[in-house]
Amino acid sequence: MPARKFTVLIIPEGSHRVRRFSLQRTLVKAIAVAGVALVLGGCLLVADYLRVRVDRGELEYLRVHNRSQEQDLHRLAAKVEDLRQEMVVLAQNDAKVRVMAQLTRPKGDSLTGVGGPPEADAVAEFSHLQQQIDDVRRAIDLRRESQEEIRGVLNDQSSLLAAKPVGWPVKGWMTSSFGMRRSPFTGKRKMHEGLDIAARTGTPIYATADGIVSQAGTRSGYGKLVVVEHGYGYKTYYGHNSKIFVQVGQRLKRGDKIAAVGNTGRSTGPHLHYEVHLNGVPLNPKKYL
Ligand SMILES: [Zn+2]
Repeated sequence: MPARKFTVLIIPEGSHRVRRFSLQRTLVKAIAVAGVALVLGGCLLVADYLRVRVDRGELEYLRVHNRSQEQDLHRLAAKVEDLRQEMVVLAQNDAKVRVMAQLTRPKGDSLTGVGGPPEADAVAEFSHLQQQIDDVRRAIDLRRESQEEIRGVLNDQSSLLAAKPVGWPVKGWMTSSFGMRRSPFTGKRKMHEGLDIAARTGTPIYATADGIVSQAGTRSGYGKLVVVEHGYGYKTYYGHNSKIFVQVGQRLKRGDKIAAVGNTGRSTGPHLHYEVHLNGVPLNPKKYL
């Protein structure tokens, strides 16, 4: 059975009276519990204080960090806006080139000249920024497609230019032109499907456009004949040659030497019989000289 009461004695030095206190057991227990609670509470307070101090430091750091990120965002937005403006200029140049190449405006060209100031709200600014980056991305794709289209058209145009017969195939003088004439052999009226250019035998004959030799040999009437395919429906004929310098399948550039003037086939004297055909129809070569 534990004691119900405690007695505390206070014994001073010398001859003073001894003091004694009588304490209930429950009271002693209560005092002990209160002491422990006090110490624990103190510890918690100190811990809490330390945590607040750490948090405050972190908060300060985050504030500074946030401010610098906001500035970065502004700078980035300004750069993207610059890019966008450059793309607008490129789009305008592209449009001019397309007009020159006789192409229509590309579909879905959404870039406009208006930019708009940076948004005040960081979230709004961020989504605005993303949209602008998407715009620039799309604009770059469009420019790329457009450039390829323009290049294709210019290639076509330059190969068409290279394929179209131009100039005199030989140095000489015209003796018979394209059209109906009385045949020097039969005396009957007959279509003359080319141009006769007289020159001394052996005078060099040149291809009047880029192409591929499709015939190189003797053919009745034409004598030693060279035919060149130029593409785009163009073909040229060079007849009555004394010599042929090319072979079937050979690639030619305009101005390449292909034959020498002669008097082979149905011919009354050394001359070149020159024909220009477009889509199988003989045309007046005079228009191509
Ligand atoms: Zn002729």
